[in-house]
Amino acid sequence: MDRVGMVRDLDSLGRIVIPVDIRKRLGIGKHTTMEFWATESGLIMRKYTGKICALCGKLEYLTYFKNAWICNLCMNELKNK
Ligand SMILES: [Zn+2]
Repeated sequence: MDRVGMVRDLDSLGRIVIPVDIRKRLGIGKHTTMEFWATESGLIMRKYTGKICALCGKLEYLTYFKNAWICNLCMNELKNK
């Protein structure tokens, strides 16, 4: 993950503009649906995919298995039990 080092203020309605460099790099267009989560370390935001690990909530390296998305870490944990 890159640390871009940009700082933005929320407006009076709680909105924030995602810098154009980040939008271009991540392929985020004008009407892209976004989803976000509050975590212990901060806010996670990404393009909406509807996919999240059913066991731990991770967003990456997901595999569809028996009607659920499972991340590689949880899949490995299940294999080693
Ligand atoms: Zn997981």
